[in-house]
Amino acid sequence: MTELAADAPVVYRNAKAFTADPDRPWAPAFAVHGGRFLVAGCLEEVQAVAAKAAASGAVAGSGGGVVEEVDLKGNLVLPGVIDAHFHLMGMGESLQRVDLVRARSLEEIQRLVREHAVSHSQSHWVLGKSWLFDAIPGGEPTVAMLDAVVPIRPVLLDANDYHSTWVNSLGLDALGITDSTPDPAGGRIARDASGRATGFLEETAAELAWAHLDRVTTGEGHRQHLRGAIAALHAAGVTTVIDMGLGATSLQTIVAAEADGELDLRVVGHWLMSREGSSATHLAQVSEAVELTRVHTSDRFRMTGIKFIVDGVIDGCTAHVSEPYTTGAMPDPIWDYEALVPVVAAADKAGIQVALHAIGDAAVRAALDAIENAYRENGTGPDRIGPSGSAERRHRIEHIEYCDPADISRFAALGVTASMQPVHADPAIQDNWRAMLGPERSPAGFPAAALVASGARLVLGTDAPTAPYAPLPNLFIATTRRSAMDPSLPANQPKNALPLHDAITYATANAAWSCFAEDRLGSIAPGRHADFFVVDPDVTDSDPDRLLDASVLQTLVGGRTVHRKG
Ligand SMILES: [Zn+2]
Repeated sequence: MTELAADAPVVYRNAKAFTADPDRPWAPAFAVHGGRFLVAGCLEEVQAVAAKAAASGAVAGSGGGVVEEVDLKGNLVLPGVIDAHFHLMGMGESLQRVDLVRARSLEEIQRLVREHAVSHSQSHWVLGKSWLFDAIPGGEPTVAMLDAVVPIRPVLLDANDYHSTWVNSLGLDALGITDSTPDPAGGRIARDASGRATGFLEETAAELAWAHLDRVTTGEGHRQHLRGAIAALHAAGVTTVIDMGLGATSLQTIVAAEADGELDLRVVGHWLMSREGSSATHLAQVSEAVELTRVHTSDRFRMTGIKFIVDGVIDGCTAHVSEPYTTGAMPDPIWDYEALVPVVAAADKAGIQVALHAIGDAAVRAALDAIENAYRENGTGPDRIGPSGSAERRHRIEHIEYCDPADISRFAALGVTASMQPVHADPAIQDNWRAMLGPERSPAGFPAAALVASGARLVLGTDAPTAPYAPLPNLFIATTRRSAMDPSLPANQPKNALPLHDAITYATANAAWSCFAEDRLGSIAPGRHADFFVVDPDVTDSDPDRLLDASVLQTLVGGRTVHRKG
């Protein structure tokens, strides 16, 4: 959809706008014209600039010299949130699933799944999300636990980290998984002592299940997921998402929605690299991504690079760590260093962005090493000018949950964006995480403030649907390190809490920078797209707990209202 070129400039007055523009962080008024911010500042200045724009519009015959005015009644205005790590189609799909994150026991999970199966009797699969390992006896789910409540339909429940999934007997059948199916590369089909598949699928084995669901969903079904996601994001104040793992179906759905004028959200995409195959197939995927970045360049949908899932997650003991977990496990990464290095170098050379999911300390180090190697090999990196202009790549590392303190300063030195998700540090979901790393290592978890102090460029996101997508509760966790699910819990390493204004900037202006859009997005400043939202009450002024129940009164994308409360 092209921006609505509203003829008349609109002056928004009586606002309390946090602009995320360091030159002028606060403004009581701003004006929008042609879908972009014209000016932000004091009312007289804004009115004068708007009147001038209206007059030149009248001369050009497109306006009439009129300026509209909107009274924002003293409400807080923020730049539209740019969720820096998101899975758009997955989030839309997850809105239809039963949410198990609050279930604290197997009985509770079974009750919720049974109820959902009854209330969603028209769909073939019974789908759920976000169960926690500590709710399952022994931490290992089985088909029998689900067959006991839903024996006659396939069931699939994704774990809270979305790196593993759990199916019942009919689920295994529907996926074509038998006791003799070999484990896929980088994944595991869990089996009991007698070799029988237990219904628990990890990493690339879970991806096979998701690919199956993707195939059995119709084009219209995908489109509905996208519509649902966009509506929910608007209502929460999100106007752009950086999608960390587009595949063929999601790409197709987003492109079709844009062609139909339905993409009322800005999407920046990274193409998900498959670990399957050899070095040649990996390089072919890079070429494919380069082509996609050439083709998809609009204001609504832009491809910027690729995404690697270098390791797994701490909860499942699949993140790549330099010392064993407390269970004794010490798994290999999904992308071993030898496989990773040439592919990162090829992408860097081709001028596209590389995003590396790296959660364990060994994976974070490998990701930094691979980027450093690419700079050396290609003569690229921050502050370098290549033959065709800037050789600054703004590569990124995603999650960084447990990082060796010695590696923190390397982010700034290498110009690598630190992309973190405060929601993953919610104290309500930390018990198993801490138990797996142990008391020595877990205090170093989620080092947000340490990264900022080292000079790294931090960006915030939610990684929805692995965590709730709403940005204000995410900012609450960022600024308090307390739980958005249970605020009474003790804070999670409050030394890593971020000042709220800074956290907002990391979720807007910094996120725009991270996808090369700082001149177009992320702040309320002249020339930027008029993406913003109105919040009640003023959460910047009061108790941070108000972030948990604040309302998004209105959201605008390109100057056009896409959400209005009530
Ligand atoms: Zn993700």
